Amino acid sequence: MKTDSDLSANETPDISGAEASSLGAEQYRKKMQRRKEVQEERLSQASSDKGLIIVHTGNGKGKTTAALGMVLRSLGHGYQVAIVQFIKGAWEPAEKAIFGRFSGQLEFHAMGEGFTWETQDRERDIEKARAAWSKGLEFIRNPDYKLVLLDEINVALKLGYLRVEEALAGLEQKPPQSHLILTGRGAPAELIARADLVTEMTLIKHPLREQGIKAQPGIEY
Ligand code: ATP
Ligand code: MG
Repeated sequence: MKTDSDLSANETPDISGAEASSLGAEQYRKKMQRRKEVQEERLSQASSDKGLIIVHTGNGKGKTTAALGMVLRSLGHGYQVAIVQFIKGAWEPAEKAIFGRFSGQLEFHAMGEGFTWETQDRERDIEKARAAWSKGLEFIRNPDYKLVLLDEINVALKLGYLRVEEALAGLEQKPPQSHLILTGRGAPAELIARADLVTEMTLIKHPLREQGIKAQPGIEY
């Protein structure tokens, strides 16, 4: 359930520190009272039970990590969760170890092998992406799964291993109350248009880029 702090956390108060200190105590109280009423009004109109299509894209780090945060939250609520990984990532081992403890609640499928620059076999990459998509679609359709994470699917779409129209048609098969997260750089515009929640991670600094520091346990995998 949403709380008052959900909205206030991401909204700057309409009053600055300097302004606040220049107001008398009574004025300040009135102003804050009014603000509280506005928020309560907004919250009373908000509904809280729509299954979301969520996209994490952009060149900055954090797309998969943020998705895993939602996996963790969902597990904490006792929901069934499925993860299908389209590209084998460095992060697999640690997550796998911890996810094993939720074996009754969580399905984890690493379906990728690394893409063209490693395998140099486009046909095989397409095959792998298609297999990952079929697996993902099984979970998307299954109302038992409250959250489905398709990790790095955006890259498969960008490289043309999976057709965007096909993915969009698959999204429509999602039960209304289930959430679906699609991660990876270069999310296609059509997917962004269809999604309910889209976050673009912006690269400002990355230790590999500026300092040549390689992937570290706990941070990257
Ligand atoms: P993470 O899994 O850490 O949340 P991500 O999902 O946002 O990262 P991916 O595109 O999946 O990013 O890349 C995965 C790996 O590449 C991670 O180990 C991450 O640290 C690294 N990485 C992400 N962005 C950059 C970058 N701009 N330069 C170098 N390495 C990067
Ligand atoms: Mg990722």
